Amino acid sequence: MAVRKDNIELVWSISELSSLFGKRTNIDGFLQDVVDHIAEHMQSDVCSIYLLDESGRRLVLRANRGLDPDAVGRVHLSLGEGITGTAVKELRPIREAHASRSPRYKFIPNTREEEYQSFLAVPIRHGLNRIGALVVQHRRPDQFTRHDTRALQTIAGQLAATLENVEMLMELHTRSDSDEVPAARRSESIRCHVASEGIAVGRIVHLHAHDLLAEHDSPDTGDQEAAFRAALERTDSQIETIHRDLDERISDLANLIFSSHLLMLRDQEFSGEMIRLIREGSTAHESVRQVVHRYVNLLAASSNPRTREKVHDIRDLGQRLVRNLKGGKEAHGDLRARVVIAHEMYPSDLVRLAAQHAEGLVLTGGGNTAHLTILARSLEIPSVLLRARREDELPEGELVAVDAYEGIIHRNPHQTLLDQFQTTQAARQTDRPGHAPSPAPTADGVEVELLANVNILHDVELAVRAGAMGIGLYRSEFPFLVRNDFPSEAEQYRIYRRIVERAGEGPVVLRTLDVGGDKLFGDREYQESNPFLGLRGIRFSLAHPELFDDQLRAILRAGADRDLRILFPMVASLDEFLRARERVRDVSADLADEGLEHHRHPKLGVMIELPSAVECCDEFAREADFLSIGSNDLVMYLLAVDRSNEQVERLYNPYHPAVLRALCRVIKTARRHGTHVSMCGEIGSSPLMIRFLIGCGLRSISADPARLSRIRDEISSVTTTKSQEFSAELLRQPSVGDVQRVIAESGL
Ligand code: PEP
Ligand code: MG
Repeated sequence: MAVRKDNIELVWSISELSSLFGKRTNIDGFLQDVVDHIAEHMQSDVCSIYLLDESGRRLVLRANRGLDPDAVGRVHLSLGEGITGTAVKELRPIREAHASRSPRYKFIPNTREEEYQSFLAVPIRHGLNRIGALVVQHRRPDQFTRHDTRALQTIAGQLAATLENVEMLMELHTRSDSDEVPAARRSESIRCHVASEGIAVGRIVHLHAHDLLAEHDSPDTGDQEAAFRAALERTDSQIETIHRDLDERISDLANLIFSSHLLMLRDQEFSGEMIRLIREGSTAHESVRQVVHRYVNLLAASSNPRTREKVHDIRDLGQRLVRNLKGGKEAHGDLRARVVIAHEMYPSDLVRLAAQHAEGLVLTGGGNTAHLTILARSLEIPSVLLRARREDELPEGELVAVDAYEGIIHRNPHQTLLDQFQTTQAARQTDRPGHAPSPAPTADGVEVELLANVNILHDVELAVRAGAMGIGLYRSEFPFLVRNDFPSEAEQYRIYRRIVERAGEGPVVLRTLDVGGDKLFGDREYQESNPFLGLRGIRFSLAHPELFDDQLRAILRAGADRDLRILFPMVASLDEFLRARERVRDVSADLADEGLEHHRHPKLGVMIELPSAVECCDEFAREADFLSIGSNDLVMYLLAVDRSNEQVERLYNPYHPAVLRALCRVIKTARRHGTHVSMCGEIGSSPLMIRFLIGCGLRSISADPARLSRIRDEISSVTTTKSQEFSAELLRQPSVGDVQRVIAESGL
């Protein structure tokens, strides 16, 4: 039987797969080396590699050790056939203690396969792209463990990476058959970072690429004023339609954008000026161009970035008008079956793309995209980031399949890949059954509270469906960011009230404005040379008491009849918390004086996301009603690593001893004081971290609604005792390498 130590050595040595490949001139020889290597290390009687053939539907045994040598190239399985075919079809490992008793077992004659009882098959895949399977078998029953599954999966991952992609494989197959692959059929894939999970297939559209306004029109002799009026009417009704059909899920944000478009379009200064120019002899196209340019120049010169951002709106309107003048086919701006490539974007652009039903988004370049990423997830737009500016590699109109689970853009995908995408997408969608609000019990029956992180109204519905017991974090900055302005108290009240009303009876944690750092307004007034160390979160609110009061008033009124909790972000000292608490009390007293209904005693909490807050967590646990650990920022500030900086992003590691110790310390301190503590950072959805945190005593997690069902499953697979042993072991490690070793040895 394979022992764990062997597996670890195997994983390490298999990482030299590429050098193994270098020694061979053909793929079959290379694959044979691999199976020999695995069989030896895992002491398995049989090891096989199956690869999908060009049709993508048939698995062919390409290398083997232990079975009849003639079986290679002769044994075929279709997708879903036998244990191996099922593992590949369902993209999951399958381990059988008694293979012949499995209903999936398929007896393959003349291979002597029947002699082997233990069976372990893992898919070899590149993202969602099925490549084949790696199989080990053993004579004795029940020989393979969970750790063997893990090790084989790791090897399969490395194997896939070495083979790079199916296309390369196919090329190799065909070349060995001395049959050239026609160049036009070759597709290609580009690696990228995942911003918002999902799958998108469509033709590429470059946002802001076609400047219709820059084009010169052909001299037109028709009735220009009539043509313009018709285009104006059409534009108006298109925007009305988008506005009216706005999905409920984004109506809270999108309303803010499209109503301002309509206002502008109907403004006499804008369209009226165009008509005046036409009457003076300009063509309709030329008059639109002139007026739009004049506005753009005016707005772009403003010192107020909120005004400057309106340039986008004006251009957008101008483009729409010209397109309608030309009678363009895509005048609706309907982006169904389109994947949008953009270099720079505002949150409002993203909302617009959602309203126009874009399938997916590729953001190129770099810069801070944290808020865009979060918003894209809430809007359910599958999105990826390409660090360098590589839009030239993705020409307009080309068909792409974006795998925003694994971070791969497939250019000119084959039909088989598209079919696979469709199957996987359908499976993932049906994978999300509704759940009644309830805690998640561990395997030994300890309950963990599950709450949801919410950014827009739509998330609340997902949260309710996923069985969240309440809202653990509402990021209130989104209406501010989308609008790039400060909504009034009344507007904020309307937005918060809808969130609170739909959330049900559970707790609702509304976090006060967290701007600054990666969530910039981009306003010159607030521009800083080092925004991550500047006027962020609670510092901003305390520095602008009038804005803070507006928000607190809206929050207290919106949550009047609920289990309202207010959370302060980026708190660095107890002093800041006490000042914020004071303001809440003052605002509450004002509302009482005014006779306005509001929540009089909301629970007040502190985000633990700065090293100073970790140091002072004893005081916070004593003074605050609850703590919420913001690991996204905490990891960054503890390790001084900016995740959006390609040079150092590798160092952003939650498994750093300093991070692990800080997390455990906060949890234990809160528990000692009997203060509620929750994790609302992204690491709360990572399986290993869940174990670690439960081991430290955490009993509440708040995460993206889409992740809650996976978290629930994960929690149900751990026991508190085992988790405690695991976290104690991790906490003893002196270095990042040691932590990694412990994790690898645990086989998790
Ligand atoms: C965090 O920092 O972990 C957090 C949840 O807050 P945000 O991601 O909004 O900064
Ligand atoms: Mg944060």
